[in-house]
Amino acid sequence: MIQNDLQQIEYKIEQAIQGSKLSADHVTLIAVTKQLSVDQTKVVVEAGLKHLGENRPEGLLPKQAEIGSSVSWHFIGSLQTRKVKDLINTIDYLHSLDRMSLADEIQKRAQQPVRCFIQVNVSGESSKHGLADTELSNFIQQIASYDKILPIGLMTMAPADASEEDIRKQFKRLRELRDEMNQTGHLKQPMTELSMGMSGDYEIAIEEGATFVRIGTALVGSIKE
Ligand SMILES: *Cc1c(COP(=O)(O)O)cnc(C)c1O
Repeated sequence: MIQNDLQQIEYKIEQAIQGSKLSADHVTLIAVTKQLSVDQTKVVVEAGLKHLGENRPEGLLPKQAEIGSSVSWHFIGSLQTRKVKDLINTIDYLHSLDRMSLADEIQKRAQQPVRCFIQVNVSGESSKHGLADTELSNFIQQIASYDKILPIGLMTMAPADASEEDIRKQFKRLRELRDEMNQTGHLKQPMTELSMGMSGDYEIAIEEGATFVRIGTALVGSIKE
């Protein structure tokens, strides 16, 4: 039952917040509904979730057409430049800003400033999207004049097969990078957010300072059964 899973996850989030000095006071839970149909996604909304995450425009748009703006819409997948125009004016958050060509297209197509997380490939795995940590400062400097991009924080995905120790190191590194970037002078407003943590590692992420966790399987997996 989603109600049970939700209760348990909310409890664990609270425990992780209480258990760490580095944690944020409040963590936003994003229900990742990419595996669900439109009707199954309505069950998630009825359970009380206020933030939904999707990783493809073809997944997000039909659900949004049905469910509307009673919830916040997070785009968490890699975004193709040619699809920006379909999506950018309907989402509330973009978690995957990872290249200048994408920033250019957002600047051209967005009617309002878009809250963006810059995706960082902390692990350095070649299969992962995201900027290298060494590219980050330069990227932030380049987008500083883009009034349609509001960089609110950093996002990363830890490798599924990494050890707990490695995962913790990567989340810690993302927090440090955010704090370093806030010292560069390139940002009009400091970045306050960290989007990190999924079904298998959200408690570690919160202990290391996550402010948004993106949870699919552990939260909504039962709806598919
Ligand atoms: C699918 C997905 C998630 C959720 O993954 P689970 O392991 O099912 O919780 C989180 N973030 C991104 C970017 C995803 O694509």
